[in-house]
Amino acid sequence: MEIVTPDEFARRTLGGRPNRLDVTIYDGCEYQCACGEVHVFRPSGFEPSETQVLRELPWMRLVLACPLGEDAATCVKIRGWFKYRFQSLFGTTVETDKPPEINATTAKIDEQVYLMNYRDHYADILADQITPSRLAELFLFRAWTAQFGYRIFSSDAEASEKLIGETVNASKYLGLGMFQQVHGFAVEIELESDFISLIEERWRDYDVVVSTMPNADRLPTMEIITVLTNRLDVAEPEVTCRLSMDFLVQMDLIKRTAMEIGILRK
Ligand SMILES: [Zn+2]
Repeated sequence: MEIVTPDEFARRTLGGRPNRLDVTIYDGCEYQCACGEVHVFRPSGFEPSETQVLRELPWMRLVLACPLGEDAATCVKIRGWFKYRFQSLFGTTVETDKPPEINATTAKIDEQVYLMNYRDHYADILADQITPSRLAELFLFRAWTAQFGYRIFSSDAEASEKLIGETVNASKYLGLGMFQQVHGFAVEIELESDFISLIEERWRDYDVVVSTMPNADRLPTMEIITVLTNRLDVAEPEVTCRLSMDFLVQMDLIKRTAMEIGILRK
């Protein structure tokens, strides 16, 4: 069956009249619908999933709405003398622009926080300064960055609130386990506290820096990274510089993802 644009469909089905024909004799006819599925014609009064006849056209043609409620319409020709069958001639679908669902996966919080190997990722950044406690600290930092990024880049307050919750939940219920599996040690044991207490303490420090910035136009990268390097207890300027770059790469990913899921602040 040919799929045409809604305009073309309207043009080709001009004329005709609303359904007056008795269509109950066609009950049970199968036809290919523009939605992609094969349906069984059920005239009104025939449950379940009755098929709405939108119009009757000359030469034994009917315009049928998709019984599944998809935005699809199909023009069928009635064929046969003793046993009727429907031949689908052409159809149309109206693309509905459903906004993508906003959750930890579509927001790529998994990718940013726990679908990664910290030892590999931070090998070049920390070089010989890699320790389990520093990797655990970076796990908390990447989780903070994920939800912070959506607070900055999202114009949708509800979406960013949701993503803060998603970040906490996904990191706690999926992230901690995956981190331990990949790295062979647990964040909570390494940092000697439970996850919620850990993020409450760390995230508060990062949030203080962000909320006390006088100029909202500038991302306080240096200030944020200073809090992080104090936590990590590293002082090398090169490491600080590479951590800043890495933070900006993650922020850039969040910005692009916010655009993809339609919540980017204009
Ligand atoms: Zn259909």
